[in-house]
Formats: sequence, structure tokens, C-alpha cells
Amino acid sequence: MHFSILAIGDELMLGQKVDTNTAWISGQLLERSLLPVEHRTVGDDRAQLAAAIAALAATSDVLVITGGLGPTEDDLTRFALGDALTPGRELVADEAAGRTIERWFRRRGRALQERNAVQAQRPTTMRMLENPNGTAPGLAGTHGRCAIYALPGPPAEMKAMMRDHVLPDLPVTDGMRVVTGIVNAYGIGESDAAERLGPILARDRQPRVGITASAGVISARVLSRAAAGEAETQRADTNQRIERAWSPYVFGRDETTLAAAVGGQLREAGQTLVTAESCTGGWLGKMIVDEPGASDWYLGGWVSYANDMKSRWLGVGAELLEVAGAVSEPVAAAMAVGALEHGPADHALSITGVAGPTRPDEPEPEKPPGLVFIGLASRGDDDGPEVLVRRFRYRGDRAAVRLRSARTALQLLRFRLADVREDTPLLWQYPRPGSGGDP
Ligand code: AMP
Ligand code: MG
Repeated sequence: MHFSILAIGDELMLGQKVDTNTAWISGQLLERSLLPVEHRTVGDDRAQLAAAIAALAATSDVLVITGGLGPTEDDLTRFALGDALTPGRELVADEAAGRTIERWFRRRGRALQERNAVQAQRPTTMRMLENPNGTAPGLAGTHGRCAIYALPGPPAEMKAMMRDHVLPDLPVTDGMRVVTGIVNAYGIGESDAAERLGPILARDRQPRVGITASAGVISARVLSRAAAGEAETQRADTNQRIERAWSPYVFGRDETTLAAAVGGQLREAGQTLVTAESCTGGWLGKMIVDEPGASDWYLGGWVSYANDMKSRWLGVGAELLEVAGAVSEPVAAAMAVGALEHGPADHALSITGVAGPTRPDEPEPEKPPGLVFIGLASRGDDDGPEVLVRRFRYRGDRAAVRLRSARTALQLLRFRLADVREDTPLLWQYPRPGSGGDP
């Protein structure tokens, strides 16, 4: 079965608005084991629209169109459908739809606008789909072997009409089940991750696996299509293979975040965390508090941006700050130890770095943008806390440097809680392993 989605609108074509309809519809299809095969976007141009409809109808079993059903000059979907499905024939006014539109205005005490009458028009071979949330009805019909549905663009209207008219109408799958899964890792590069998966990435393999990367998080996306029951088993088997190949960098499946993974570990251990942040300005704390139930394991943190705050709140020595500089290994360590004691908590993460960017006229400074020290202090025995500091150099703009810093901090804590070797290589560590000495 070939499912296609056509999104219509200049605003989508020009990138001024993100096409969320197509993503949502694809998700709905997938939930029903129906695989979307093609997405297209076309601007508000009648000829281009008609050509796209004709082309997609020729190759698809089901075509869902969104947008362009409104009352204004740039709403051309019904005319383009007429051009493609019933060339040379005028649109007809649908009486029932006309009455519905009239009632819609009357109920709201508004006069029926002349131009709204166009919304009751349809190609002769199509039928109207009622829209409970707006004036624009949808359209449904067939062209050759393709079932076509045209829905209004506003996401709330589109969703209700998908549920009412389209999804119940769709063919039940041909006995094949489609299930998806995601395995997430942090701290290895994309090519390393691919290398480790080897033949698992073969395009003709079932389940099919692809890799995406986003701000350091590497995700293996598993798509399993097989007989019911088998699809799930094969997905589970593939998930496990990926987890073995990417160990110890894997932190969770599907929508699991690093913060949620760490939270699960801390909750299980009955332990708590505090944070001391400089260049990330609270981003690490935000990522943690984004997780429901974080209060079980997160006590709070300090955004100690200025040196003075690092001293006053966390007890980092003024002399140390003077001699080593705020962005340094001993200061990261002192921030973590100070936070741990002030909590008091079982673990403290600290981040201090140069978020950048440098001004164009500045020479390459001794501490370049992207240089970040991340500290982790954990309650130890009588000998005092167990302290670890690692140094990284991140590429990218201020936001990229800060996001990666916060994520790396969580991965360091995850490693410690899972008894992973603390010198396990991590992406962007600095100097790179094997590069020898300071760069
Ligand atoms: P239209 O039906 O083309 O008049 O669109 C009405 C509203 O829905 C506009 O605000 C559009 O930007 C929005 N819209 C149309 N298509 C999409 C889409 N594919 N994704 C998200 N919003 C959309
Ligand atoms: Mg539009």
C-alpha cells in the first residue's frame, strides 16, 4: 500500500511555517501499521497543485491533502482537484454543505460572507466531509485506484476530520504489522556508531535501522514490518543488538532523555543530586526538572556565573579562581565539592566553561570558546568525596556548547551510577584520546 501526504501553502513552501500536519498524519498511519511512502509540499499555485495531485494519485493508494480549502483567493485546493479529477468540468455547489455553512454563521450570529459560498463547491465526483470545528468542509473521492481526502489546514480541524472521516475509512493492513523503536546513546560520534552496527544498517534488512544525530544524542531508529507478533519479537532482538553494540553509551529507548535515565538510577539507589552551573546558566537544572518526579532525586542547584558567586555560594577559593581561572579543572572540582557539601547530596555535578563565541578581532585565546570542564563529586567514605573532572571542547554556537555540556554532565553521572569506567572515551573530550598531551 502506497500512502502519500500532500501539504499545501506558500507559508510551508517558503519555510515560514513548519508543516506539522504531515508529521502528525504520518504518526497516525504508522500507529495503524500503514507506512507513509511519500510527502510533498506545494505552494498556493493552482497549476502546480493540480500537477502534484495527478502525479500522486497515479502512484498512491491513499492520498491525504491538507490546506487550501478556505474562502480566500489563495485557497485553491478544490479547483486543483477539479482540474486533476474532472478536467473541463465546473465545480458544483453542494446543497447540504451550503446549508451547513449557513447554519455555522447563523449560530455564531454572523452574516454569511459571499466568499464563504465557495466552500460548498466540489468537483462533481467528490463528496463533502463535515468539519465540526470550522467552516471549510473537506472533500473525498477517488481517482483511478487512489482514494483522495482533502482536509483544511488548521491542525485542530485537520486532526478531528482525520479521526472522524479518514482513519475509519482506511484499509486495514494486509496482515503485516509495523512497529518502531528508538535506541538512544550519547558520547559516541555518528560514524563510530555506524561502524559498531555494521550489517545491522543494511538497507534491505528486516527490521530496517537508520541513525540520526541531534546535539550529541545518537538514535538508532528501528522499523520492523512483519507478521503480527513477529514484528515485535524482531524489534526486541534488534534493539538488544544495538544496545550491545553501543554499550556503555546507551541511556534509554524511545523518548527517554538522559535526565530521565539518570533519575531512574538515582531513584533506584535512593540517592540525590545537586548542580553547580556556570556557562550553562541553569540549563542542566532545567533538563532535570523537565522530568516529572524529579523532586524524588534532585535537590536543586546554583547558577554561579560570576567568580564572586562561585566563592560565596560554593566556597571556591578566591585565590584558586585567581590563579587557575574560573574555567579550569580545580575550579570545576571545587564547585562540585562545594555543592555536594552545601546540599548536602549524594552527588554533585558542576560545569564551568567558555560558551563563546569570540569576538572577531580577538586572537585565539588561551581558553578557547567551547572549552568546558565538567566535575562530578560523590559522597565517599571517610576519605572525603570521590571527585572526577573531565575536559571537553565542543564545536558550535553558544547554545550548542551549553546543551552538549549539560548532556555530557548527565552521562558522566550515569556512567558512575552504572559502574562504567570513568575514563571511557567520550565525544569532544579534550585532548582527544591518543592525540597525546595538551594540544
Ligand atoms: P489553509 O487551510 O491553507 O487556509 O490554512 C489555514 C491555517 O492552517 C494556516 O494558519 C496554515 O498555516 C495552517 N496550516 C496549513 N497547512 C498546515 C500544515 N501542513 N501544518 C501546519 N499548519 C498548517
Ligand atoms: Mg493556505
